[in-house]
Amino acid sequence: MTGFTLPTSRPVTQAWGAEFDDWDGDGVVDYPGGFYHSIGWDGHNGIDYGCFVGDPVEAVADGVVTFAGDAGNWHAILSGGGNAILIEHPEYGVQTEYLHLSEWLVQAGDTVRRGQVIARSGKTGAATAAHLHLGMLKIRGYNLADRWRGRIDPTPYLYGSLNPDYAAAAVGPQGTITSQSEEDDMGILDEPITREGGGPLNGKPTTLRAVVANFDANVHYTREAIKGTVAATVTALLTTKISRAGGATGQTDLLSTLAYLDANLDKLDAKQILDPSAVQAAVSAAADAALKDITITLSNAPGAAAEGAK
Ligand SMILES: [Zn+2]
Repeated sequence: MTGFTLPTSRPVTQAWGAEFDDWDGDGVVDYPGGFYHSIGWDGHNGIDYGCFVGDPVEAVADGVVTFAGDAGNWHAILSGGGNAILIEHPEYGVQTEYLHLSEWLVQAGDTVRRGQVIARSGKTGAATAAHLHLGMLKIRGYNLADRWRGRIDPTPYLYGSLNPDYAAAAVGPQGTITSQSEEDDMGILDEPITREGGGPLNGKPTTLRAVVANFDANVHYTREAIKGTVAATVTALLTTKISRAGGATGQTDLLSTLAYLDANLDKLDAKQILDPSAVQAAVSAAADAALKDITITLSNAPGAAAEGAK
């Protein structure tokens, strides 16, 4: 029993049981009562992850591949899923499906391990954009005609005590259980709650567990986004055009100015006119004086032009 893992590190974009009524996101209700209800389902019957085409997709648990290929419109379970994989996990009595893949990297009959890369994500089959749909059915006793099309909620398996990453989070740092009843906690996690505060899912039911899972995935995403923004800001600052107010002509940027100061420091030092620390002090003073009257124009902020620095 090695437990479960997530099929990708991408964020959850549609949780189990989610419903939506605006097909194209234009703010107009296309399906009063919800899209899934309009086709006889009770809601989204799996978990969607915001993958791009080509992201690695991992098996969520040890198992045996029972199908890998194009499910077309003929496969009893996977029909409409495009390039798809079905894996049985006998230890847990369930099977998992991975839909809309760009390619499959395993074959029917293969034994796979938890976390093994089995496919690349894509947008094949009934998908309007690239994403990974992860679904779960029992191995026996599922009913493809029910209002989930035979699927069960994978959330407790992927984000519960069967996933070592999340099982650790359910206890305190010292390994102590953080509440009197872990079972009560688990129950609260799965109580239906309603989203409020705007956004496309406003008013839609979900669970704390789904929200936490989504948040966890988004933290990673946000961290990467912040790193990108900081790098872009530094680059923008260094390449911002500046002009000298004291009569000197032409524009330059901070990066060129720093390079110029650096080059001239070396030149003075080589001539040995002054000792290095005096040169440094002189250049420093010159730089201070030059910067004192400098006018900075933020080229990427048209409304904030020509603000005096210092
Ligand atoms: Zn889906």
